[in-house]
Amino acid sequence: MNRKFYLFASMFATLLLLCGFYSSVHIHYGVGFLFLIVLVFWGVVLYQWFRDHNETLKLNHILDKKVKAQTQKLDHLNNELQRYNKKLSNVIEGSNMGYWDWELATDKYYVNQRWLEMLKLQRGSITNTVKDLLNRLHPIDKSHIMPKITQAIEEDVHFNVEYRLMDKNGEYVWIEASGAVIERDKEGNALRLSGTHQDISKRKSLERIRNKNREYLNILFDNNPNIIVVSNAHEILSTNHQFFRYFPEFSSIKEFKKHYRCICDLFEYVEDSHFLHSSKANNWINEAIANPDSKVLIQYKENQYYFKVIASLVKFDGELLYIVTFTDITQQQLLQKKLEEISIIDELTKVYNRRHFNRVFKEEYAKAKEMQTSLSFVMMDLDNFKLYNDNYGHDKGDNVLQSVANAFKASLKRSGDYVFRLGGEEFGLLFRNIDYAHSIEYANSMRHNVAQLNLEHLLNKPYDKVTLSLGLCYVDFASDEVELKDIYHYADQALYESKSNGRNVVSSWRLD
Ligand code: GH3
Ligand code: MG
Ligand code: MG
Repeated sequence: MNRKFYLFASMFATLLLLCGFYSSVHIHYGVGFLFLIVLVFWGVVLYQWFRDHNETLKLNHILDKKVKAQTQKLDHLNNELQRYNKKLSNVIEGSNMGYWDWELATDKYYVNQRWLEMLKLQRGSITNTVKDLLNRLHPIDKSHIMPKITQAIEEDVHFNVEYRLMDKNGEYVWIEASGAVIERDKEGNALRLSGTHQDISKRKSLERIRNKNREYLNILFDNNPNIIVVSNAHEILSTNHQFFRYFPEFSSIKEFKKHYRCICDLFEYVEDSHFLHSSKANNWINEAIANPDSKVLIQYKENQYYFKVIASLVKFDGELLYIVTFTDITQQQLLQKKLEEISIIDELTKVYNRRHFNRVFKEEYAKAKEMQTSLSFVMMDLDNFKLYNDNYGHDKGDNVLQSVANAFKASLKRSGDYVFRLGGEEFGLLFRNIDYAHSIEYANSMRHNVAQLNLEHLLNKPYDKVTLSLGLCYVDFASDEVELKDIYHYADQALYESKSNGRNVVSSWRLD
Protein backbone atom coordinates (compact mmCIF):
# COMPACT_ATOMS: atom_id res chain seq x y z
CA MET A 1 0.00 0.00 0.00
CA ASN A 2 2.73 2.40 1.09
CA ARG A 3 4.95 1.47 -1.83
CA LYS A 4 2.06 2.09 -4.29
CA PHE A 5 1.45 5.45 -2.70
CA TYR A 6 5.13 6.48 -3.07
CA LEU A 7 5.08 5.36 -6.74
CA PHE A 8 1.89 7.33 -7.37
CA ALA A 9 3.19 10.45 -5.57
CA SER A 10 6.55 10.47 -7.41
CA MET A 11 4.85 9.82 -10.80
CA PHE A 12 2.40 12.64 -10.13
CA ALA A 13 5.24 15.01 -9.17
CA THR A 14 7.23 14.05 -12.33
CA LEU A 15 4.09 14.63 -14.41
CA LEU A 16 3.61 18.04 -12.86
CA LEU A 17 7.29 18.89 -13.49
CA LEU A 18 7.09 17.70 -17.14
CA CYS A 19 3.79 19.56 -17.69
CA GLY A 20 5.29 22.70 -16.16
CA PHE A 21 8.42 22.44 -18.33
CA TYR A 22 6.39 21.73 -21.50
CA SER A 23 3.94 24.59 -20.80
CA SER A 24 6.63 27.18 -20.14
CA VAL A 25 8.40 26.24 -23.45
CA HIS A 26 5.44 25.58 -25.78
CA ILE A 27 2.43 27.38 -24.29
CA HIS A 28 3.20 30.20 -21.98
CA TYR A 29 5.66 30.53 -19.15
CA GLY A 30 2.74 31.61 -16.92
CA VAL A 31 1.06 28.19 -17.30
CA GLY A 32 4.45 26.55 -16.55
CA PHE A 33 4.70 28.73 -13.45
CA LEU A 34 1.20 27.58 -12.38
CA PHE A 35 2.30 23.94 -12.70
CA LEU A 36 5.36 24.79 -10.59
CA ILE A 37 3.18 26.31 -7.84
CA VAL A 38 0.98 23.16 -7.85
CA LEU A 39 4.21 21.10 -7.67
CA VAL A 40 5.45 23.12 -4.64
CA PHE A 41 2.00 22.78 -2.99
CA TRP A 42 2.07 19.05 -3.69
CA GLY A 43 5.57 18.92 -2.16
CA VAL A 44 4.39 20.72 1.01
CA VAL A 45 1.39 18.33 1.35
CA LEU A 46 3.67 15.36 0.84
CA TYR A 47 6.16 16.71 3.35
CA GLN A 48 3.41 17.10 6.02
CA TRP A 49 2.05 13.68 5.25
CA PHE A 50 5.52 12.09 5.49
CA ARG A 51 6.18 13.77 8.83
CA ASP A 52 2.93 12.48 10.36
CA HIS A 53 3.42 9.11 8.77
CA ASN A 54 6.94 8.85 10.23
CA GLU A 55 5.64 9.66 13.73
CA THR A 56 3.05 6.89 13.37
CA LEU A 57 5.71 4.55 12.10
CA LYS A 58 7.95 5.35 15.01
CA LEU A 59 5.11 4.79 17.52
CA ASN A 60 4.19 1.58 15.79
CA HIS A 61 7.77 0.47 16.05
CA ILE A 62 7.92 1.20 19.76
CA LEU A 63 4.64 -0.57 20.31
CA ASP A 64 5.85 -3.54 18.27
CA LYS A 65 8.93 -3.76 20.48
CA LYS A 66 6.88 -3.58 23.64
CA VAL A 67 4.42 -6.19 22.43
CA LYS A 68 7.33 -8.43 21.49
CA ALA A 69 8.90 -8.01 24.95
CA GLN A 70 5.60 -8.74 26.68
CA THR A 71 5.03 -11.76 24.45
CA GLN A 72 8.49 -13.04 25.35
CA LYS A 73 7.74 -12.48 29.02
CA LEU A 74 4.42 -14.29 28.72
CA ASP A 75 6.11 -17.16 26.87
CA HIS A 76 8.65 -17.31 29.68
CA LEU A 77 5.92 -17.26 32.34
CA ASN A 78 4.02 -19.88 30.45
CA ASN A 79 7.08 -22.09 30.40
CA GLU A 80 7.63 -21.42 34.08
CA LEU A 81 3.99 -22.27 34.79
CA GLN A 82 4.27 -25.49 32.87
CA ARG A 83 7.46 -26.38 34.72
CA TYR A 84 5.79 -25.45 38.01
CA ASN A 85 2.70 -27.52 37.19
CA LYS A 86 4.93 -30.45 36.35
CA LYS A 87 6.82 -29.98 39.60
CA LEU A 88 3.53 -29.68 41.50
CA SER A 89 2.15 -32.86 40.01
CA ASN A 90 5.50 -34.54 40.83
CA VAL A 91 5.23 -33.27 44.38
CA ILE A 92 1.64 -34.46 44.68
CA GLU A 93 2.56 -37.86 43.30
CA GLY A 94 5.73 -38.06 45.40
CA SER A 95 4.05 -36.86 48.59
CA ASN A 96 1.72 -39.78 48.58
CA MET A 97 -1.24 -37.46 48.30
CA GLY A 98 -4.38 -38.17 46.41
CA TYR A 99 -5.59 -35.60 43.91
CA TRP A 100 -9.19 -34.83 43.06
CA ASP A 101 -10.98 -32.58 40.60
CA TRP A 102 -14.69 -31.83 40.84
CA GLU A 103 -16.66 -30.43 37.88
CA LEU A 104 -19.64 -28.76 39.52
CA ALA A 105 -21.95 -28.61 36.49
CA THR A 106 -21.72 -32.34 35.78
CA ASP A 107 -20.83 -33.44 39.35
CA LYS A 108 -17.99 -35.42 37.81
CA TYR A 109 -15.31 -36.23 40.33
CA TYR A 110 -11.94 -37.20 38.88
CA VAL A 111 -9.24 -38.71 41.10
CA ASN A 112 -5.68 -39.88 40.59
CA GLN A 113 -4.21 -43.33 41.22
CA ARG A 114 -3.00 -42.53 44.72
CA TRP A 115 -6.51 -41.40 45.72
CA LEU A 116 -7.81 -44.81 44.66
CA GLU A 117 -5.00 -46.63 46.46
CA MET A 118 -5.90 -44.96 49.75
CA LEU A 119 -9.26 -46.66 49.60
CA LYS A 120 -7.85 -49.87 48.05
CA LEU A 121 -9.97 -49.20 44.94
CA GLN A 122 -9.34 -50.01 41.29
CA ARG A 123 -9.86 -47.51 38.51
CA GLY A 124 -13.19 -48.42 37.00
CA SER A 125 -14.65 -49.64 40.27
CA ILE A 126 -16.00 -46.14 40.96
CA THR A 127 -18.37 -44.03 38.91
CA ASN A 128 -16.28 -40.82 39.13
CA THR A 129 -19.20 -38.84 40.51
CA VAL A 130 -19.61 -36.92 43.75
CA LYS A 131 -22.46 -39.26 44.59
CA ASP A 132 -19.96 -42.10 44.79
CA LEU A 133 -17.86 -40.06 47.20
CA LEU A 134 -20.88 -39.19 49.37
CA ASN A 135 -21.82 -42.86 49.57
CA ARG A 136 -18.43 -43.63 51.05
CA LEU A 137 -18.59 -40.81 53.62
CA HIS A 138 -19.03 -41.63 57.31
CA PRO A 139 -22.56 -40.52 58.36
CA ILE A 140 -21.23 -38.49 61.30
CA ASP A 141 -18.85 -36.49 59.08
CA LYS A 142 -21.40 -35.59 56.42
CA SER A 143 -22.81 -32.58 58.22
CA HIS A 144 -19.58 -30.61 58.70
CA ILE A 145 -18.14 -30.92 55.18
CA MET A 146 -20.65 -29.07 53.03
CA PRO A 147 -20.60 -25.80 55.04
CA LYS A 148 -16.83 -25.64 54.57
CA ILE A 149 -17.03 -26.27 50.83
CA THR A 150 -19.84 -23.72 50.48
CA GLN A 151 -17.72 -21.17 52.35
CA ALA A 152 -14.75 -21.92 50.08
CA ILE A 153 -16.95 -21.33 47.01
CA GLU A 154 -18.62 -18.18 48.31
CA GLU A 155 -15.61 -16.49 49.86
CA ASP A 156 -13.07 -17.87 47.41
CA VAL A 157 -10.93 -19.33 50.16
CA HIS A 158 -9.09 -22.55 50.63
CA PHE A 159 -10.87 -25.24 52.64
CA ASN A 160 -9.51 -27.98 54.82
CA VAL A 161 -11.65 -30.79 56.24
CA GLU A 162 -11.10 -34.11 57.92
CA TYR A 163 -13.49 -36.99 57.36
CA ARG A 164 -13.75 -40.75 57.05
CA LEU A 165 -14.24 -42.56 53.77
CA MET A 166 -15.16 -46.20 53.46
CA ASP A 167 -12.54 -48.29 51.66
CA LYS A 168 -13.12 -51.31 49.44
CA ASN A 169 -13.36 -53.60 52.51
CA GLY A 170 -15.96 -51.47 54.25
CA GLU A 171 -13.47 -50.01 56.72
CA TYR A 172 -13.18 -46.28 57.30
CA VAL A 173 -9.99 -44.40 56.42
CA TRP A 174 -9.38 -40.96 57.92
CA ILE A 175 -8.75 -38.42 55.15
CA GLU A 176 -7.63 -34.83 55.24
CA ALA A 177 -9.01 -33.02 52.19
CA SER A 178 -7.85 -29.59 51.07
CA GLY A 179 -8.99 -27.65 48.07
CA ALA A 180 -10.29 -24.48 46.46
CA VAL A 181 -12.23 -23.25 43.46
CA ILE A 182 -9.88 -23.28 40.47
CA GLU A 183 -12.22 -22.15 37.71
CA ARG A 184 -15.12 -19.71 37.53
CA ASP A 185 -17.28 -18.40 34.67
CA LYS A 186 -17.54 -14.75 33.67
CA GLU A 187 -20.22 -14.12 36.30
CA GLY A 188 -17.97 -15.56 38.95
CA ASN A 189 -19.88 -18.80 39.42
CA ALA A 190 -17.65 -21.67 40.49
CA LEU A 191 -17.10 -24.25 37.76
CA ARG A 192 -14.41 -26.49 39.19
CA LEU A 193 -12.94 -27.34 42.55
CA SER A 194 -9.75 -29.22 42.97
CA GLY A 195 -7.42 -30.28 45.76
CA THR A 196 -5.63 -33.07 47.60
CA HIS A 197 -6.48 -36.06 49.78
CA GLN A 198 -4.20 -37.38 52.44
CA ASP A 199 -4.48 -40.51 54.56
CA ILE A 200 -4.29 -39.30 58.20
CA SER A 201 -5.41 -42.55 59.87
CA LYS A 202 -2.13 -42.92 61.78
CA ARG A 203 -2.24 -39.38 63.07
CA LYS A 204 -5.88 -39.83 64.07
CA SER A 205 -5.17 -43.02 65.95
CA LEU A 206 -2.30 -41.29 67.80
CA GLU A 207 -4.63 -38.40 68.57
CA ARG A 208 -7.20 -40.84 69.92
CA ILE A 209 -4.60 -42.39 72.22
CA ARG A 210 -3.43 -38.94 73.31
CA ASN A 211 -6.99 -37.79 74.00
CA LYS A 212 -7.69 -40.93 75.97
CA ASN A 213 -4.53 -40.39 78.01
CA ARG A 214 -5.56 -36.82 78.62
CA GLU A 215 -8.96 -38.04 79.81
CA TYR A 216 -7.27 -40.51 82.19
CA LEU A 217 -5.05 -37.71 83.48
CA ASN A 218 -8.08 -35.50 84.07
CA ILE A 219 -9.77 -38.33 85.95
CA LEU A 220 -6.65 -38.77 88.07
CA PHE A 221 -6.36 -35.03 88.57
CA ASP A 222 -9.96 -34.58 89.66
CA ASN A 223 -10.16 -37.71 91.77
CA ASN A 224 -6.96 -37.03 93.62
CA PRO A 225 -7.83 -36.62 97.31
CA ASN A 226 -5.50 -33.61 97.55
CA ILE A 227 -5.98 -30.09 96.26
CA ILE A 228 -3.78 -29.65 93.22
CA VAL A 229 -3.05 -26.16 91.98
CA VAL A 230 -1.26 -25.24 88.76
CA SER A 231 0.14 -21.74 88.78
CA ASN A 232 2.56 -19.65 86.76
CA ALA A 233 4.80 -16.93 88.18
CA HIS A 234 1.84 -14.62 88.72
CA GLU A 235 -1.42 -16.43 89.29
CA ILE A 236 -3.36 -19.68 89.65
CA LEU A 237 -4.08 -21.18 86.23
CA SER A 238 -5.96 -24.33 87.08
CA THR A 239 -7.00 -26.55 89.93
CA ASN A 240 -8.80 -29.84 90.49
CA HIS A 241 -12.28 -30.46 91.93
CA GLN A 242 -10.98 -30.85 95.48
CA PHE A 243 -10.23 -27.14 95.60
CA PHE A 244 -13.94 -26.35 95.36
CA ARG A 245 -14.81 -28.89 98.03
CA TYR A 246 -12.84 -26.80 100.51
CA PHE A 247 -13.96 -23.46 99.08
CA PRO A 248 -17.53 -24.23 97.94
CA GLU A 249 -18.46 -20.59 97.68
CA PHE A 250 -16.57 -20.42 94.36
CA SER A 251 -17.63 -22.24 91.23
CA SER A 252 -14.47 -21.51 89.26
CA ILE A 253 -10.93 -20.29 89.66
CA LYS A 254 -11.99 -17.07 87.95
CA GLU A 255 -14.53 -16.49 90.73
CA PHE A 256 -11.93 -17.24 93.39
CA LYS A 257 -9.49 -14.77 91.84
CA LYS A 258 -12.11 -12.02 92.04
CA HIS A 259 -11.93 -12.31 95.84
CA TYR A 260 -8.36 -13.39 96.49
CA ARG A 261 -5.17 -12.28 94.79
CA CYS A 262 -3.48 -15.53 95.80
CA ILE A 263 -4.36 -18.67 97.74
CA CYS A 264 -1.69 -17.53 100.20
CA ASP A 265 -4.07 -14.75 101.30
CA LEU A 266 -5.82 -17.48 103.30
CA PHE A 267 -2.69 -18.62 105.14
CA GLU A 268 -2.77 -18.00 108.89
CA TYR A 269 0.34 -17.10 110.85
CA VAL A 270 1.69 -20.01 112.91
CA GLU A 271 4.81 -19.65 115.03
CA ASP A 272 6.56 -22.62 113.51
CA SER A 273 9.22 -22.47 110.82
CA HIS A 274 7.50 -25.25 108.86
CA PHE A 275 4.48 -23.08 108.24
CA LEU A 276 4.40 -20.86 105.15
CA HIS A 277 3.28 -17.28 105.58
CA SER A 278 4.89 -15.29 102.85
CA SER A 279 2.27 -13.72 100.69
CA LYS A 280 4.71 -11.94 98.42
CA ALA A 281 4.16 -13.19 94.83
CA ASN A 282 5.12 -16.85 94.69
CA ASN A 283 7.67 -16.73 97.50
CA TRP A 284 5.64 -19.21 99.48
CA ILE A 285 5.83 -21.70 96.59
CA ASN A 286 9.58 -21.29 96.31
CA GLU A 287 9.81 -21.82 100.07
CA ALA A 288 7.71 -24.97 99.71
CA ILE A 289 10.00 -26.23 96.93
CA ALA A 290 13.03 -25.61 99.15
CA ASN A 291 11.39 -27.20 102.18
CA PRO A 292 9.50 -30.46 101.49
CA ASP A 293 8.09 -30.44 105.06
CA SER A 294 6.16 -27.22 104.49
CA LYS A 295 2.71 -26.78 105.98
CA VAL A 296 0.00 -24.14 105.94
CA LEU A 297 -2.89 -23.31 108.18
CA ILE A 298 -5.85 -22.07 106.18
CA GLN A 299 -8.61 -20.19 107.87
CA TYR A 300 -11.70 -20.18 105.68
CA LYS A 301 -14.92 -18.92 107.23
CA GLU A 302 -15.37 -20.89 110.48
CA ASN A 303 -13.11 -23.72 109.39
CA GLN A 304 -9.45 -24.25 110.01
CA TYR A 305 -7.52 -26.61 107.77
CA TYR A 306 -3.95 -27.77 108.07
CA PHE A 307 -2.28 -28.80 104.80
CA LYS A 308 1.05 -30.32 103.96
CA VAL A 309 2.37 -28.48 100.91
CA ILE A 310 4.44 -30.13 98.20
CA ALA A 311 5.50 -27.93 95.31
CA SER A 312 7.49 -28.51 92.17
CA LEU A 313 8.52 -26.50 89.16
CA VAL A 314 7.92 -27.99 85.71
CA LYS A 315 8.46 -26.74 82.20
CA PHE A 316 5.33 -26.98 80.09
CA ASP A 317 5.00 -25.62 76.58
CA GLY A 318 8.03 -23.39 77.12
CA GLU A 319 6.57 -21.90 80.31
CA LEU A 320 7.65 -22.55 83.89
CA LEU A 321 4.73 -23.81 85.94
CA TYR A 322 4.35 -24.51 89.63
CA ILE A 323 2.44 -27.64 90.62
CA VAL A 324 1.38 -27.40 94.24
CA THR A 325 -0.29 -30.22 96.16
CA PHE A 326 -2.13 -29.48 99.39
CA THR A 327 -2.68 -32.62 101.49
CA ASP A 328 -5.20 -32.22 104.29
CA ILE A 329 -3.45 -33.04 107.58
CA THR A 330 -5.97 -31.31 109.85
CA GLN A 331 -6.79 -34.48 111.81
CA GLN A 332 -3.14 -35.48 112.30
CA GLN A 333 -2.21 -31.93 113.18
CA LEU A 334 -4.94 -31.61 115.82
CA LEU A 335 -4.01 -35.00 117.22
CA GLN A 336 -0.37 -34.05 117.28
CA LYS A 337 -1.22 -30.78 118.99
CA LYS A 338 -3.17 -32.72 121.61
CA LEU A 339 -0.32 -35.19 122.05
CA GLU A 340 2.15 -32.35 122.39
CA GLU A 341 -0.04 -30.73 125.01
CA ILE A 342 -0.34 -34.01 126.87
CA SER A 343 3.38 -34.61 126.66
CA ILE A 344 4.20 -31.34 128.42
CA ILE A 345 1.49 -31.39 131.08
CA ASP A 346 1.82 -33.20 134.39
CA GLU A 347 -0.99 -35.70 134.64
CA LEU A 348 -1.76 -35.26 138.34
CA THR A 349 -1.44 -31.51 138.83
CA LYS A 350 -2.09 -30.26 135.25
CA VAL A 351 0.80 -27.82 135.40
CA TYR A 352 3.77 -28.10 133.00
CA ASN A 353 5.99 -31.12 133.63
CA ARG A 354 9.73 -31.48 134.05
CA ARG A 355 10.17 -32.25 130.33
CA HIS A 356 8.67 -28.91 129.39
CA PHE A 357 10.61 -27.18 132.13
CA ASN A 358 13.89 -28.38 130.58
CA ARG A 359 12.93 -26.76 127.27
CA VAL A 360 11.37 -23.56 128.56
CA PHE A 361 14.15 -22.96 131.10
CA LYS A 362 16.68 -22.99 128.23
CA GLU A 363 14.52 -20.77 126.02
CA GLU A 364 13.81 -18.21 128.73
CA TYR A 365 17.46 -18.19 129.74
CA ALA A 366 18.43 -17.48 126.09
CA LYS A 367 15.80 -14.74 125.75
CA ALA A 368 16.87 -13.03 128.99
CA LYS A 369 20.49 -13.19 127.89
CA GLU A 370 19.74 -11.80 124.46
CA MET A 371 17.46 -9.04 125.68
CA GLN A 372 19.66 -8.28 128.70
CA THR A 373 16.80 -8.62 131.16
CA SER A 374 16.48 -10.38 134.47
CA LEU A 375 15.52 -14.01 134.99
CA SER A 376 14.06 -15.34 138.23
CA PHE A 377 13.81 -19.00 139.08
CA VAL A 378 12.09 -20.18 142.26
CA MET A 379 12.20 -23.74 143.60
CA MET A 380 9.17 -24.55 145.74
CA ASP A 381 9.04 -27.68 147.94
CA LEU A 382 6.22 -28.77 150.26
CA ASP A 383 7.26 -28.98 153.87
CA ASN A 384 7.33 -32.35 155.62
CA PHE A 385 5.28 -33.92 152.93
CA LYS A 386 6.50 -37.40 153.65
CA LEU A 387 4.90 -37.01 157.06
CA TYR A 388 1.68 -35.85 155.40
CA ASN A 389 1.48 -39.03 153.35
CA ASP A 390 2.29 -41.10 156.39
CA ASN A 391 -0.41 -39.40 158.41
CA TYR A 392 -3.23 -38.83 155.88
CA GLY A 393 -2.51 -41.37 153.20
CA HIS A 394 -1.08 -41.10 149.70
CA ASP A 395 -4.42 -40.30 148.03
CA LYS A 396 -4.98 -37.33 150.30
CA GLY A 397 -1.38 -36.35 149.53
CA ASP A 398 -2.26 -36.37 145.81
CA ASN A 399 -5.24 -34.11 146.47
CA VAL A 400 -2.95 -31.68 148.29
CA LEU A 401 -0.56 -31.63 145.33
CA GLN A 402 -3.48 -30.79 143.02
CA SER A 403 -4.79 -28.02 145.30
CA VAL A 404 -1.32 -26.51 145.69
CA ALA A 405 -0.74 -26.61 141.91
CA ASN A 406 -4.10 -24.86 141.31
CA ALA A 407 -3.13 -22.19 143.82
CA PHE A 408 0.18 -21.72 141.94
CA LYS A 409 -1.59 -21.38 138.60
CA ALA A 410 -4.06 -18.89 140.05
CA SER A 411 -1.19 -16.87 141.48
CA LEU A 412 0.68 -16.42 138.17
CA LYS A 413 0.84 -12.72 137.38
CA ARG A 414 1.51 -12.62 133.61
CA SER A 415 0.92 -14.89 130.62
CA GLY A 416 4.68 -15.39 130.10
CA ASP A 417 5.25 -16.67 133.65
CA TYR A 418 5.51 -20.40 134.14
CA VAL A 419 4.92 -22.89 136.90
CA PHE A 420 6.21 -26.47 136.61
CA ARG A 421 6.06 -29.65 138.64
CA LEU A 422 9.73 -30.54 138.77
CA GLY A 423 9.11 -33.89 140.47
CA GLY A 424 7.45 -35.36 143.61
CA GLU A 425 6.27 -32.45 145.77
CA GLU A 426 8.72 -30.02 144.21
CA PHE A 427 7.59 -27.17 141.90
CA GLY A 428 9.35 -24.44 139.92
CA LEU A 429 8.37 -20.86 139.16
CA LEU A 430 10.04 -19.07 136.25
CA PHE A 431 9.62 -15.51 135.07
CA ARG A 432 11.57 -12.74 133.39
CA ASN A 433 11.91 -9.00 133.71
CA ILE A 434 10.79 -8.49 137.31
CA ASP A 435 13.34 -6.86 139.59
CA TYR A 436 14.85 -8.53 142.64
CA ALA A 437 12.54 -7.03 145.30
CA HIS A 438 9.43 -7.81 143.29
CA SER A 439 10.71 -11.30 142.52
CA ILE A 440 10.89 -11.99 146.26
CA GLU A 441 7.42 -10.55 146.60
CA TYR A 442 6.21 -12.81 143.78
CA ALA A 443 7.69 -15.89 145.54
CA ASN A 444 6.15 -14.82 148.83
CA SER A 445 2.73 -14.47 147.21
CA MET A 446 2.98 -18.13 146.18
CA ARG A 447 3.93 -19.15 149.66
CA HIS A 448 1.17 -17.02 151.14
CA ASN A 449 -1.52 -18.33 148.75
CA VAL A 450 -0.69 -21.96 149.57
CA ALA A 451 -0.78 -21.25 153.31
CA GLN A 452 -4.11 -19.54 152.72
CA LEU A 453 -5.52 -22.85 151.52
CA ASN A 454 -5.40 -23.94 155.15
CA LEU A 455 -4.94 -27.60 154.31
CA GLU A 456 -4.53 -29.41 157.63
CA HIS A 457 -1.11 -30.97 158.22
CA LEU A 458 -0.75 -31.47 161.94
CA LEU A 459 2.70 -33.01 161.65
CA ASN A 460 4.07 -29.86 159.97
CA LYS A 461 5.03 -28.01 163.12
CA PRO A 462 4.58 -25.23 164.09
CA TYR A 463 2.11 -24.41 161.27
CA ASP A 464 -0.26 -27.39 161.45
CA LYS A 465 -1.14 -26.85 157.78
CA VAL A 466 0.41 -27.43 154.41
CA THR A 467 3.22 -24.94 153.76
CA LEU A 468 6.12 -24.70 151.40
CA SER A 469 9.68 -23.50 151.39
CA LEU A 470 11.08 -21.49 148.48
CA GLY A 471 14.53 -20.80 147.06
CA LEU A 472 14.91 -17.94 144.58
CA CYS A 473 17.78 -17.30 142.22
CA TYR A 474 17.70 -13.85 140.61
CA VAL A 475 19.99 -13.01 137.68
CA ASP A 476 20.22 -9.73 135.83
CA PHE A 477 21.86 -10.30 132.46
CA ALA A 478 22.34 -6.56 132.03
CA SER A 479 25.22 -6.81 134.50
CA ASP A 480 26.13 -10.46 134.87
CA GLU A 481 26.68 -13.65 132.91
CA VAL A 482 25.57 -16.86 134.62
CA GLU A 483 25.38 -20.38 133.33
CA LEU A 484 22.04 -22.13 133.20
CA LYS A 485 23.06 -24.94 135.54
CA ASP A 486 24.28 -22.37 138.11
CA ILE A 487 20.87 -20.70 138.23
CA TYR A 488 19.32 -24.05 139.07
CA HIS A 489 22.04 -24.77 141.57
CA TYR A 490 21.68 -21.43 143.40
CA ALA A 491 17.90 -21.77 143.59
CA ASP A 492 18.40 -25.23 145.08
CA GLN A 493 20.87 -23.75 147.54
CA ALA A 494 18.41 -21.06 148.52
CA LEU A 495 15.70 -23.69 149.04
CA TYR A 496 18.05 -25.63 151.28
CA GLU A 497 18.54 -22.47 153.30
CA SER A 498 14.76 -22.05 153.68
CA LYS A 499 14.46 -25.62 154.90
CA SER A 500 17.24 -24.97 157.41
CA ASN A 501 15.61 -21.72 158.53
CA GLY A 502 12.42 -23.27 159.84
CA ARG A 503 10.56 -23.79 156.51
CA ASN A 504 7.59 -21.75 155.13
CA VAL A 505 10.02 -18.98 154.08
CA VAL A 506 11.65 -17.57 150.92
CA SER A 507 15.45 -17.48 150.67
CA SER A 508 17.22 -15.95 147.72
CA TRP A 509 20.45 -15.58 145.78
CA ARG A 510 21.01 -12.49 143.76
CA LEU A 511 23.44 -12.74 140.85
CA ASP A 512 24.05 -9.31 139.32
P1 GH3 B 1 11.16 -31.48 153.48
O1 GH3 B 1 10.32 -30.51 154.25
O2 GH3 B 1 12.54 -31.53 153.93
O3 GH3 B 1 11.03 -31.30 152.08
O4 GH3 B 1 10.53 -32.88 153.88
P2 GH3 B 1 9.81 -33.85 152.91
O5 GH3 B 1 9.19 -34.94 153.69
O6 GH3 B 1 8.85 -33.11 152.07
O7 GH3 B 1 10.98 -34.31 152.08
P3 GH3 B 1 11.26 -35.54 151.13
O8 GH3 B 1 11.82 -35.00 149.89
O9 GH3 B 1 12.10 -36.46 151.92
O10 GH3 B 1 9.92 -36.23 150.83
C1 GH3 B 1 9.15 -35.98 149.73
C2 GH3 B 1 7.93 -36.81 149.79
O11 GH3 B 1 6.93 -36.43 148.90
C3 GH3 B 1 8.16 -38.27 149.55
C4 GH3 B 1 6.87 -38.79 149.02
O12 GH3 B 1 6.17 -39.52 149.98
C5 GH3 B 1 6.10 -37.53 148.71
N1 GH3 B 1 5.69 -37.58 147.34
C6 GH3 B 1 6.47 -37.43 146.23
N2 GH3 B 1 5.69 -37.53 145.13
C7 GH3 B 1 4.41 -37.75 145.54
C8 GH3 B 1 3.15 -37.96 144.87
O13 GH3 B 1 3.04 -37.94 143.64
N3 GH3 B 1 2.04 -38.14 145.63
C9 GH3 B 1 2.11 -38.14 146.98
N4 GH3 B 1 1.00 -38.31 147.66
N5 GH3 B 1 3.28 -37.98 147.62
C10 GH3 B 1 4.41 -37.78 146.93
MG1 MG C 1 9.46 -31.55 150.79
MG1 MG D 1 11.31 -32.66 148.10
